Parts: sequence; C-alpha cells; structure tokens
Amino acid sequence: MTFESLGLIPELLQAVAARQYETPTAVQTAAIPAILAGEDVMALAQTGSGKTAAFALPLLQRMQQRIQQEAEESSKDSNNESNKARKVNILVLVPTRELSGQVGQTIEALAAHLPKKLKVAVIYGGASINPQMMHLRGGADIVISTPGRLLDLLDNNALSLKDVATLVLDEADRLLDLGFADEIKRILEQLPAKRQNLFFSATFSPAVKKLALALLHEPRRVAIADLAENLPDIAQRTIAVDGDKRTRLLVHLIKDQQWERVLVFVATKYASDTVSNKLKKAGIKAEAFNGDASQGARQHMLTDFKANRIQVLVATDLAARGIDVAGLPAVVNYDLPRSADDYLHRIGRTGRAGASGTAISFIVAEHEMHFRLIEKRQDKRVPRETIAGFEPTAIVADKAESEANADAPTGGIKGARKSKKDKLREQAAKNGQPG
Ligand code: AMP
Repeated sequence: MTFESLGLIPELLQAVAARQYETPTAVQTAAIPAILAGEDVMALAQTGSGKTAAFALPLLQRMQQRIQQEAEESSKDSNNESNKARKVNILVLVPTRELSGQVGQTIEALAAHLPKKLKVAVIYGGASINPQMMHLRGGADIVISTPGRLLDLLDNNALSLKDVATLVLDEADRLLDLGFADEIKRILEQLPAKRQNLFFSATFSPAVKKLALALLHEPRRVAIADLAENLPDIAQRTIAVDGDKRTRLLVHLIKDQQWERVLVFVATKYASDTVSNKLKKAGIKAEAFNGDASQGARQHMLTDFKANRIQVLVATDLAARGIDVAGLPAVVNYDLPRSADDYLHRIGRTGRAGASGTAISFIVAEHEMHFRLIEKRQDKRVPRETIAGFEPTAIVADKAESEANADAPTGGIKGARKSKKDKLREQAAKNGQPG
C-alpha cells in the first residue's frame, strides 16, 4: 500500500514525503479513502497510530477541491471573492491544549504545498482569549479547539459554526473522561445537520459508543483488531518494588538501560516535582512536566526533550496528554494510572508509528490488585520482575490476595509479592506435605 494508491493529490504526496512517511499506517489505509468519499468514520485509533494524518490528508484534499470549484464559479461572477470572510469548514475537537497544538502543526505541515494557503486556528483554554479572538477575525478555514474555549468564543460571536462541513472528534474517549460531554452537546447544536463526522477514539467504552452512535451516520468502522494487540510494538514489563525504593530504581534503570529519553508518569504534581528533583540530584537531566508550568514553559520543555537536552520528563497524566515525541524508547509508570484506559494512553506514548518501545510499570505491593484489573481489561498478564538490589520486602495483603483469587478467571492467581526469604520459609514449612 502506498499513499499514491490512496488517491491523494500530488501536493499532499509531497507533504507526506517531506515528513518522511513512507507507507500509510493501518488507520490511514482504512480511513483515507472513506473520508475522501465523504463518509462518516468511526475509528479505533490511539495516539501513535497516525490518526492525525488519517483525517487531515483527505480533509485537506476535499477542501482544496471545494476551493477550486468555488474559485471557478466566482470567476464567472466577477470580484465577489474579495471581502468574504472565511467560513469554518473543518472543526476538530480535541481534549487538551497540547493536542490542539500538535494537530494544528501537523495540519499546517501537510497543507504546506497546497496552492491556496489555508487559515488554521488553534484554540484552547487556559490562555488569554483576546489573541484567539483577534486571530479568528476574518474567519478561519480549519479550527482545532478544546470544547470549553470554543463555547466561550461562540458566546462572544467570535466565530460561527453554521458552515462546518466536517466535524472531527479526536480522542473522543478522552474528551468524555475530561467531562466535556455537555460542552460537546452544546457545540453539536450549533453545527449544520448535514455534515461529515469523523470519530477517533483509543477506547470504546459504552459512553463513548453512545456518543459515536448519536453522532455518526452509517459510519465506516475502522476498528483495528483488539486494542492491546493493536498497540504498536510495545514491550510491557512490570517490576515489583517497594514504594520507597522507586526513585533509586528509576535512577538505576535510566543509567542501566541508557535510554535516550524517557517519559515517567506519576500520580500528582507534587510527585512530579519531588521525583524530578531527586533525579536532578542524581545528575540526570530531568524536569517536572505538570499543570503548574505555563503552556510556554511546557512547550519549551518538549522542545528540549525532543532535542535531547532533557533526558527525563516526570509528568502527570493531564499534562502528558497529547505529547507526541517520535522515537520515545521508554515510558515508566512510577505510579500506576487510575484506569486501564489511562494505562493504554500512557504506554501508547512509546512505540509510535512503527518504532518499538518499552513500557515499565512499578508495582508496589499495595497496588498489585489494581494492576491486575488493568491486566484483566487488556486480557494480558505481564510477568512481575524483580531487579537485583531492589527486591521488594512488602507483601500483598492476605485479604486482597484472597479477593483476587476469588475474582480470577483461572480460579486463582498466585504470586502475591513475597520476598525470597518468605518463599524459602514457606517452602520449608510445606516440605513433605502434598500440594
Ligand atoms: P498520531 O497518531 O497522529 O499522533 O501520529 C503519531 C506519529 O506518527 C506522528 O509523529 C506522525 O508524524 C507519525 N506518522 C503518521 N503517519 C505516519 C506514517 N504513515 N509513517 C510514519 N510516521 C507517521
């Protein structure tokens, strides 16, 4: 399969080549022809699957064709083009400001060789609204926005959605996770009824499916096999360790594995500050990546991270959402994510677009049960490892273990974290007894 065979115009093929995409990814192969044909699409696709180009390329092509058509029509009807404001043709709703920036950059890059320059507006909350309002003067062809800020701008009459031809919901599961259901509903009310809808989500929980079904009209389903299997080439590992040894273990791994870059996930802003400070003290170039840093500071950190000036980013889930770093060899879950969905999102930061990657989760005894639920959700058991010098001493509580055994599909999971000594003692006690 090639990009040419998907029916893309030369200007877009040129942009694809400039970005060094050699062959289309699975989601691109399936979605591009359907989107070109004007169909609705519902795609199971996580970050790293190439989903942005999967919708951007065909939408840019359709838009280009429409512009040409309109130009031909208006050349018959002389100079009616001059004072016309641009109408929002494509609206992309995204969950976070990071993602809106990234999608905007990708679209701009893919549109670079098109004969008619398009105006792309990237809009997000948490920043001053005035510059965004100014930028929207005269309209925009493509608007990429987080839902809350878009509503603010609509309330201020800074733009109109009545001419939107295509709506894209990007990372729809995340939009719902972040509580944007009401905002999305209000935005939908302002869109024309007849439009193309594209729906991308890494997971399809009942709530996500409900939203998709409410929105889509006979969609082409681009569901690429099972979620866990569909993850790019990501090796999942777990390391059992005591909570208070995690930072030292992290330092050990960073040095031992010689990762060029690593993204470390923690549960709180506080942890992101303390862990990154400890790494710095150990001589590692690390930074805390959390909501306390301004958007500008975070952008700066990402640039430094990509340029290998920072080796480790210690991030919270929200801040890390949408981070797109090509060639990220490893992700470490210092703290476990709250949900299986978050786990998939996190580990999907590595192994992107064909590259392989490693996702390591630290499992402290008290969170063993939580990780088993995550394993259950992805129907995959990841063997617990221990690292010499960092063997855990804490043991999973008996109650929790018996609950897990009752719950386990195989009739019982053994192997709560026990120290070597405990195992030896147990073995000695059992000697001579059957079973
Ligand atoms: P996305 O899933 O849109 O966040 O894209 C993930 C990464 O893959 C981005 O860095 C893209 O630039 C890159 N990418 C997208 N499509 C391709 C492709 N066909 N070949 C190689 N890389 C790609």
